[in-house]
Amino acid sequence: MNTGCVLRVAINAPLSRLFDYLPPDDGKPLPGCRVLVPFGRQRQIGLVMELVPHSEVPISKLRKATAVLDDKPLLNEADRWLVSFTSDYYHHPIGEVVAAALPALLRQGKPLESLVRKISATAEGAAADLNMIRKRAPRQGALLTIIRNADSISFAELDEVMPGWRRLKKNLADKSLIEEFVSSEDSDQPNTCANVEQTDGPQLNRDQAAALQAIRSRPGFRVSLIDGVTGSGKTEIYLHLIRDMIDAGRQVLVLVPEIGLTPQLVERFRTRLGLEPVLLHSALSSTARLAGWRAAHRGSAQLILGTRSAVFVPMKTPGLIIVDEEHDGSLKQQEGLRYSARDLAIVRGKKHDIPVVLGSATPSLESLQRCREDAYQHLKLPSRAGRAVPPLLRLVDLTKHQAGDGLSAPVISAIAENIGQGGQVLVFLNRRGFAPTLICTGCGKIADCSRCDARMTVHANRNKLMCHHCGASRAIDSKCPDCGSSCKPLGQGTERLEDSLRAQFPEDTITRIDSDTTRLRGTMKKALAEATTGKTKILVGTQMLSKGHHFPNLTLVVIINADQGLFSTDFRGSERLAQSLIQVAGRSGREARQGQVLIQTAFAHHPFWSELFSGGYERVATVALAEREKAAWPPFSRLALLRASAARREDTHAFLESARKIAEDMKMGDVRILGPVSAPMERRAGRYRAQLLLQSRQRRSLHDMLSHVRAALEGSTSARRVRWSIDVDPIELF
Ligand code: ADP
Ligand code: ZN
Ligand code: ZN
Repeated sequence: MNTGCVLRVAINAPLSRLFDYLPPDDGKPLPGCRVLVPFGRQRQIGLVMELVPHSEVPISKLRKATAVLDDKPLLNEADRWLVSFTSDYYHHPIGEVVAAALPALLRQGKPLESLVRKISATAEGAAADLNMIRKRAPRQGALLTIIRNADSISFAELDEVMPGWRRLKKNLADKSLIEEFVSSEDSDQPNTCANVEQTDGPQLNRDQAAALQAIRSRPGFRVSLIDGVTGSGKTEIYLHLIRDMIDAGRQVLVLVPEIGLTPQLVERFRTRLGLEPVLLHSALSSTARLAGWRAAHRGSAQLILGTRSAVFVPMKTPGLIIVDEEHDGSLKQQEGLRYSARDLAIVRGKKHDIPVVLGSATPSLESLQRCREDAYQHLKLPSRAGRAVPPLLRLVDLTKHQAGDGLSAPVISAIAENIGQGGQVLVFLNRRGFAPTLICTGCGKIADCSRCDARMTVHANRNKLMCHHCGASRAIDSKCPDCGSSCKPLGQGTERLEDSLRAQFPEDTITRIDSDTTRLRGTMKKALAEATTGKTKILVGTQMLSKGHHFPNLTLVVIINADQGLFSTDFRGSERLAQSLIQVAGRSGREARQGQVLIQTAFAHHPFWSELFSGGYERVATVALAEREKAAWPPFSRLALLRASAARREDTHAFLESARKIAEDMKMGDVRILGPVSAPMERRAGRYRAQLLLQSRQRRSLHDMLSHVRAALEGSTSARRVRWSIDVDPIELF
């Protein structure tokens, strides 16, 4: 028996350990390769994390892997290290982390490179007299012409250009004019082709040049935060850094938020760098995703642009990682493996010893605090690049100006004025649908979701009430089920706002952009194109509009309602509100004309506004950091949240009580245990939700406690009645 070699295999199962196997008879896999293994009564695909001489399981009890699926590793040593780190840090089963790091087709056992059959002309075929062949056999002549023109061509491509060609193949092959061969799918077409026309960018201004110089000044790992107002030219700096790396033969990974990967941004990277970036995002087909992953793995992808899960993509020659909009919540995965792509990018940069660049107009307080501690390099770009000047912000006090249909008089006249001068207007409201509430005019009853502690949103176009939390929907009640009086929508959603705007501005083109209007493929692209050319006069929409887009003509931004954010119970409330306001405001006046921003509020005297108006985001951040330091909230402490949900309330609380007990028994004085408490929205999709919060100034203590609690809970009986999860560094406290 081969005792010298035990495979430690990660299997996609909710268990936090590796499984030991013996190699199959016909060969020993390298670490990082996939194997097929017997698992319980089934077969599973696993990934070999390491080879070790011994197992704690007696050799006689070890089962043999059935087959080795790869001849070279999918994940190299550094990639596997990242997987292990992620599993440890987020207290998540390692097999599920591997699954998150691999494209779906590889998880399903498809080969990394599939072989395709191709044809090319032989030397004889290349020299043959085509006219002669065409005269005698026109179809054969045509086929040979196609093959000769293409150098080599796949069977599939020929099927498309010349149906029926297969019948002619033998004739040409018998005359030794063509030959067949197999090759890997895209090995001969570089993924990043250099035939994109390259254009020059602007000369960097002083702040940009200084920031670029500061980042270039030291090779190797260092985190730099480019803290630059919207339009200050952060992306220009990225472009220079990327150029450097690509010229040095290294790969660059750029991570952007979920809706940040706009066609405009991709086009800018393409044309400025003269290459085709490899895109990795959730909307790709699984084949396209695999192709991109493979190009990164092979090293032919020089530039990879991706959303959060791209943080795991293997790179052969990593040179730089950029995280754009580093404050953005979508960089944190909120279900399953709850990781922060920004934080893992930094961990990964350190492992590879390469620079990591974070960029934002509104950096997270976590990153700002790291700058204060001198752990990150803080690079500021306080003014807009080129000619653009910062937008002018103004409050509209709703206690003085009524806004019956959502729009106050000062807002209506400002819109009219801007359109009159040829400008474009963006009206922002982070609430889709017609109205957030349906209320009975007789008894005041509000239409609730039967499965959630939440109100139904009125969607007038579809004549439906919909729950935005669980997706439930039903017809709009025409009469109150309790008293029979009529019901009416209350409050504003983007759909209703669009109607109000049409009533006020019947002559002008109005486009609404939210997840209801852009459900169909391509509609977003079309709407954005119309907005960019200036055809659209008024854009109305949700936060889908607030990031990344560049509308050259936009001169006015209207924020319909900022008040929800003012009274948030979350300690991150003011940070979030300032971030979203500044991001939206940043859409206006990006070119020659100064932009204007109007914010409607019923609480014009709230201290938040004076902070924002006196010192901008920096002031809001300073105040918030001081408050958090006093209250020992992050970044001055570490948090972890243990969440549980169940069909019965008692089960969640019993489970979390038992978790609390396990934690308390550890007697670690430096970890505070808060709860269990019900989640702010306790019932969602028919399940009750509750949580236990762990807080500590010491990361080590917190993690020791989490490991212990998790191990104890994994096998416990109370865990069987609930769904539970651990969220390390949660960004939402429910
Ligand atoms: P950010 O990424 O900070 O929002 P961008 O890099 O997108 O900023 O720059 C905003 C606009 O200013 C773009 O149109 C860009 O081409 C232009 N720009 C950037 N840097 C300069 C510069 N140094 N001189 C002139 N225009 C610039
Ligand atoms: Zn009623
Ligand atoms: Zn619901």
